[in-house]
Amino acid sequence: MEFSAASRDGMIEQLKTKTFDILVLGGGITGAGIALDAASRGLTVALVEKGDFAQGTSSRSTKLIHGGLRYLKQLEFGIVKETGQERSILYHNAPHIVYPEKMLLPIIKGGSLGKYSTSLGLYVYDYLAGVPRPERRYMLDKAATIAAEPMLREEILLGGGMYIEYRSDDARLVIEVLKSAAEFGAVSLNYCKATSLIYNQDTKVAGATVADERSGKSFEIKAKKTINAAGPWVDELRQADNSLKGKRLHLTKGIHIVVPKHRLPVNQAVYFDVPTDGRMVFAIPREGIVYVGTTDTNYKEDSDQCFANADDVSYVLKAANYIFPTAALTEQDVISTWAGLRPLIHKDGKAPSDLSRKDEIFISSSGLISMAGGKLTGFRKMAERAVDTAFKQLASEDKKYEYSPCSTDQIVLAGGDLDGLSIADFENRLAEKYDRFPAAEVKSLARKYGSASEGILQKALLNNTDHALLLAEADYAIRHEMCLNIADFIVRRTGRLYFERPALAEQYPLLQAYFVQKLGTPEDLAQKDLRQFEQEYVGVMAFSESVPA
Ligand code: FAD
Repeated sequence: MEFSAASRDGMIEQLKTKTFDILVLGGGITGAGIALDAASRGLTVALVEKGDFAQGTSSRSTKLIHGGLRYLKQLEFGIVKETGQERSILYHNAPHIVYPEKMLLPIIKGGSLGKYSTSLGLYVYDYLAGVPRPERRYMLDKAATIAAEPMLREEILLGGGMYIEYRSDDARLVIEVLKSAAEFGAVSLNYCKATSLIYNQDTKVAGATVADERSGKSFEIKAKKTINAAGPWVDELRQADNSLKGKRLHLTKGIHIVVPKHRLPVNQAVYFDVPTDGRMVFAIPREGIVYVGTTDTNYKEDSDQCFANADDVSYVLKAANYIFPTAALTEQDVISTWAGLRPLIHKDGKAPSDLSRKDEIFISSSGLISMAGGKLTGFRKMAERAVDTAFKQLASEDKKYEYSPCSTDQIVLAGGDLDGLSIADFENRLAEKYDRFPAAEVKSLARKYGSASEGILQKALLNNTDHALLLAEADYAIRHEMCLNIADFIVRRTGRLYFERPALAEQYPLLQAYFVQKLGTPEDLAQKDLRQFEQEYVGVMAFSESVPA
């Protein structure tokens, strides 16, 4: 199945006419993982996403594929072990978007971890996660810690631990998983909201009524099993199923701020203590910028309108300035932000940071399978558990289904075949071969699209304008990534809203015109798309009245 915006009408036709084995509601990492798992086991799969793919939490995380050091502190050894193993599978299957990065953990006076507990903790972490020997942690004394990171507050420093985490790009991961699912025949449609569930005469869920936001038309999708993977909106669909009983979601908000690298020139990622509340925060460098976060606060407002506010930003700035005193960051240094909601499972009396990140499956009496909780990192195993549940039910109900086990650990994701090269060697090779373009831009393409970046560069060579690369990338997003408008491109396909926001004022009118012309978007829809983008563009800076949007 093609994953092209041009195929949208054909996809809708299929969704209307076929009865699918599995219908997935929600196109974040959980839904995408389920679609790939089910389709690769030979099941027919439909997936609908009410907005753009990854527009919920799955484009707003810390973007780490990690074993979860914080879970070690909470003695959740099972999560640390499973996510650590997942990390190495993902690194193998998607080396263009998952790669190791050094992380420094400074040990400070009065901090949450002492020298010996850090050393032991990181050792156990590496051991549980099966970290290869050259990547295992090493401890630093105070002088070596300062040498590694001269910006740290020296007077409180006792030493440090250096270990490896894996950096990723959450929204790109979702898209690559969905592209891979499409290769196995899954039909995934964005801007298509499940508005209600449909039931058979035995009162069992038999699919959903969906509303296509682009045409304004509603239709039914029929399926034998329906899986609710709606992240923070899981309970809305459970409510629609009349099955919101017992365990419920508990949403907590987490934000990140983005500052230019020259304002916080850290040498590597740092995971440091917040002095006031015993939490820990990341500062993660990435081409030209550093992002810092996150927070963890209860959230009860509109889940569709979640932005960083002044208190969130102030908390992160204070934490960063405490550990990096010479940076003296202010609101004026912040060039973008993002805010996401953790779909956690409520437990009475637990503070946000103490709630478990474990995933759980709820099965309602109507047969609706809901998947809640979990992590980006653990999405493949979560998908395996959800599809196992659905597949076993199918096999017991109808002999034509012969249960087959999950094999996604063997599936190289779209873009992930780098000819056996590391991402660093792959991007260098491309930069040399396509030296007409700035090396930094070629490398950035390689880290978004992996093996598909060569096609984009070839296309760009045919265009002699200054925007050759940008428009070739946009063209690829339309033809291969179901990108329907500028927000999809700028926010979820490329992350430019977060990492390159200052350049957007010049780029986005050009991109808007390009998308409207290429897709033949009707005027009213084009205006709506533009308004939606501008809302996000302004929203990420709306935390302050004194910082210009
Ligand atoms: P979502 O990504 O929210 O997807 C659900 C989708 O369902 C949404 O796109 C939504 O639009 C759609 N939807 C809702 N209702 C409907 C409907 N009626 N019809 C159709 N579609 C619908 N995990 C890590 O492993 N590493 C990290 O570094 C990390 N950092 C994090 C930092 C923060 C601040 C937060 C908030 C989370 C972090 N996580 C991290 C956790 C991780 O991001 C989430 O567990 C994961 O993204 C949740 O994915 P999901 O698909 O379940 O939900």
